[in-house]
Amino acid sequence: MRMIDHVVAGGASAPQQPRHGDVFDPNSGAVQAQVALGDVALLDHAVAAAQAAQPAWAATNPQRRARVMFRFKELVEAHMDELAQLLSSEHGKVIADAKGDIQRGLEVIEFACGIPHALKGEYTQGAGPGIDVYSMRVPLGIGAGITPFNFPAMIPLWMSGVAIACGNAFILKPSERDPSVPVRLAELFREAGLPEGILQVVHGDKAMVDAILDHPAIGAVSFVGSSDIAQYVYSRGVAAGKRVQAMGGAKNHGIVMPDADLDQVVNDLSGAAFGSAGERCMALPVVVPVGDDTADRLREKLLPAIAALRVGVSTDAEAHYGPVVNAAHKQRVENWIQTGVDEGAELVVDGRGFSLQGHEQGFFIGPSLFDHVTPDMQAYKEEIFGPVLQMVRAPDFETALRLPSEHQYGNGVAIFTRNGHAAREFAARVQVGMVGINVPIPVPVAYHSFGGWKRSGFGDHNQHGMEGLRFWTRVKTVTQRWPDSSPDGGNAFVIPTMG
Ligand code: NAD
Repeated sequence: MRMIDHVVAGGASAPQQPRHGDVFDPNSGAVQAQVALGDVALLDHAVAAAQAAQPAWAATNPQRRARVMFRFKELVEAHMDELAQLLSSEHGKVIADAKGDIQRGLEVIEFACGIPHALKGEYTQGAGPGIDVYSMRVPLGIGAGITPFNFPAMIPLWMSGVAIACGNAFILKPSERDPSVPVRLAELFREAGLPEGILQVVHGDKAMVDAILDHPAIGAVSFVGSSDIAQYVYSRGVAAGKRVQAMGGAKNHGIVMPDADLDQVVNDLSGAAFGSAGERCMALPVVVPVGDDTADRLREKLLPAIAALRVGVSTDAEAHYGPVVNAAHKQRVENWIQTGVDEGAELVVDGRGFSLQGHEQGFFIGPSLFDHVTPDMQAYKEEIFGPVLQMVRAPDFETALRLPSEHQYGNGVAIFTRNGHAAREFAARVQVGMVGINVPIPVPVAYHSFGGWKRSGFGDHNQHGMEGLRFWTRVKTVTQRWPDSSPDGGNAFVIPTMG
């Protein structure tokens, strides 16, 4: 059995880890590897190495730090096929989608290549008589990232790229369900010239997460995962005096106005609702047609599109999507479908009971479509995270606007329309963090930033872009005066002003 180990400085001398977890091949349903599950002793070892390495890294000039990012980007590009294969084999997303996962992470590395410019501080000459003021952004020291299974390349790179480029040491605790790609990324960072101890990977489950949250030497924690855990991580981390950003689950809505190009909408929805088997926090699992006529026309066009979806093994180049990540998740998604039925929604297409010939034990689920879903249903309120599209009919624009605005999650939302005024109004008023206008998956580019509202995001500062840079640094402001030798009027007992 293949063993997936931690990547910590001085690996062989790290404390031995007695606990292990299974890593599945979602295509076959078999256990393909075991991952070490670390504990407090292992984390202490990693933190000590990070403490030893970080001051010199922070003192390395930012251009040199950026050069490591450039080399890392080239290495990842050279290893793209191998990484995508590995990612797909543990996650189950198809190879082209696995490459997208890696590519979106690399775009954050490209942003990090510009860190010398982005880190420049502010300066005011002559803020008072003979007084100048300047501010600088300094690294926090040691940061940690705790990441979900669904983007095992992109999300670790969202965090590590910016944290490291800013001069921090970074400890990554990736999902224990698909831990191999994060390990390879850490190895490639080393090959790119990153000093030992600056990026370490510690595997584990709740025990390791708690150890990170409680560790006094870790100054900041970035978390991405489901909302209950995000809230827990946020509360416990903040109580321990850390800076915490914690991104949670999602239930993104796509509003379809009567004037929308429905062929384009169906095309976009197929990918956004069913791509990656719906295991994306920016998936579009709720469609809200405005008016019954729009709903009926949309439903008619959706049916053949759903029938044409090809579910296959993740290495099948023709497949639109592959299996979900494990058996427990498959069961969970199928339970939600049953809940939807029990609550009275119309199950128009039932993806349960899907079996792929030759891969009967794989974690496959066919696509499902619900119509006449209503906001009071539990299956609407909660995140399903599977290949299930729910149609909620809205009589008018105001109702459609209220649905995502009042939902407990506020990650992403999209509106499909040809009407610029409606789109503008929607973008201004909707209570959601990321908005797409005729864009089904509005994941912002790397130099902007990613983050949802309400139960989709706890804490402050988004991921990557300048928001990420602000999260991984703190500001030091210097007020300086170089007096000449003439007397300046003696002691001042009032607060200094620049007047
Ligand atoms: P998860 O919450 O189960 O796990 C996330 C991380 O938390 C993992 O590293 C896991 O080991 C750890 N963890 C799990 N249980 C824990 C516990 N009880 N205590 C402490 N730590 C624990 O999430 P997942 O299933 O890996 O990922 C899917 C979820 O992530 C979905 O809800 C999805 O919407 C969300 N997600 C959100 C974003 C975003 O940016 N908002 C992006 C991707 C995924």
